[in-house]
Parts: sequence; C-alpha cells; structure tokens
Amino acid sequence: MACPDCGAPTLAFPVPSEYREYLPGDAAGAEVCTDCLVLRPVDDPPAERPDLTALSDAVPSNDEAAVPFVLLVGLLPSLVTNRSEISDLLARVERAGTDPLLALDRLADDPSVDPDTDLRGRRRQLEQLL
Ligand SMILES: [Zn+2]
Repeated sequence: MACPDCGAPTLAFPVPSEYREYLPGDAAGAEVCTDCLVLRPVDDPPAERPDLTALSDAVPSNDEAAVPFVLLVGLLPSLVTNRSEISDLLARVERAGTDPLLALDRLADDPSVDPDTDLRGRRRQLEQLL
C-alpha cells in the first residue's frame, strides 16, 4: 500500500488484541508510512508481524517494545486528546526494556524518515504532560 499523504510505501502489521483500544474503530491492524510515519488502522493486516525496525533503526528491535512504540508515534499528532493512551504506551515500551523518550530522540535524528509530526516538539510536550 502507498501512503495517501506522501505516496511512500507503508508497512502493515497485526495489532495484538491488548493494543486494539489504541486504534480508532478497534481495527485488527495498522499500517505506518515508512516516510512520514503517519499511522492508520487497517482491517486486513498480514498475519505475520513484519520487522518494524525496517521503518527506522530507532524502532526497538524487540516486538514487545516495537508495537507499542509504533502505536505511540502514531498517536503523537493528537497528543492532548490521547494523553492517557500515550502514557499507557510509554509505560509498556519502558516495561519491555526500552527508554521510549530516547527512542523518540533517535527517531527524530534518523535521516531515513521525514515525520509529518514535529517529534522533538511532541517529546517536549510529553515531558510536560506526564
Ligand atoms: Zn506518508
């Protein structure tokens, strides 16, 4: 699939049921744009989870942290309305052994992506909100 915003390829992945509450409409999966990092729910994701580090080296290599991290990045554009979801996801990434704010910094520094969202600005807001 291509991203409707920027035309870059997207990466679709199944979202485990414990994370579906973080997606609009309870979808079974999501796709994330490999360039602008916009996240959209999808109803027919692949059964196998692709390697999410294909997005960026900043994405944690362990699946337990990668899924909540990618969902977290997807919710950042609406930080204020998704504040409680975002703080849940931050905690899950942390529990899986990755520092989520450090990973966000690395993502913001990664020249291979061109995020639609100002990751540094959102990270500063996150620190103030949480
Ligand atoms: Zn895009």
